[in-house]
Amino acid sequence: MSIRSLRSAHIAIVVVWLAATAAGQQAPVGYDDTPMQPNGKWHIHDGKRPQPAIVTPGPANVGPVPAPGDAIVLVGAGGDLSAWQMMTDGSPVTWAMKNGVLETGKGIIRTKAQFTDFQLHVEFATPSEVKGDSQGRGNSGVFLLGKFEIQVLDSYRNPTYPDGQAAAMYGQYPPLVNASRPPGEWQTYDIAFTAPRFTPAGTLDKPAVVTVLHNGVLVQNAKAFWGPTAHKKIDPYTPDTAKGPIALQDHGNPVRYRNVWIRSLKDDN
Ligand code: MG
Repeated sequence: MSIRSLRSAHIAIVVVWLAATAAGQQAPVGYDDTPMQPNGKWHIHDGKRPQPAIVTPGPANVGPVPAPGDAIVLVGAGGDLSAWQMMTDGSPVTWAMKNGVLETGKGIIRTKAQFTDFQLHVEFATPSEVKGDSQGRGNSGVFLLGKFEIQVLDSYRNPTYPDGQAAAMYGQYPPLVNASRPPGEWQTYDIAFTAPRFTPAGTLDKPAVVTVLHNGVLVQNAKAFWGPTAHKKIDPYTPDTAKGPIALQDHGNPVRYRNVWIRSLKDDN
């Protein structure tokens, strides 16, 4: 090897080392003092878990995705919020609704209707003005049956613990890839959910299973929940988790929702 090629090899090594160091400085936020997940691979909210690869989704639709004829519209252009109530006491929703866009306010909201198996379409946008980082940036969530959270977060260039980023099954599984759009842009979740089943004795027969597309990209592929999602723990399955509402989380960050619709599924085949 000539002096010249030795020198360029040396420069290349330094460049790789600098890049690795810069990446290392963006240490993901997470925990190593939380319980291990049931398969023994990672702590809940493990910051060392690999970050999902970034995939740029295809171009966004200009407007909301139209609801199919048999869907129940939960958040629509008409601004009707009669499908919802406050989670705590069932009182009328206090979140602000304007021109078909619902913005998170104080307290979690839930649908009055209860569901089991369904297809759910959600459109959301985190603030275009970026404030905070990690879990403090555009945090909300879609709670399936009020118990199983698909995380809503601004995960565009915002490292956090992978099982808590956008489209994660919170505290359990990161998305397969990070298909987030930039802050302020409308994004979609398309969710297929099968509720857990219980034996007559009340023990778990089949866990809840979810498939999620984030901006049209498959990010959860028929994945089973270990139990209801929670912060720094996983709750146990109980028979009262067999059905429930759709809930939207208030996490203190302004997040907007529009065009939310649901189709209950009945499989007689
Ligand atoms: Mg959340």
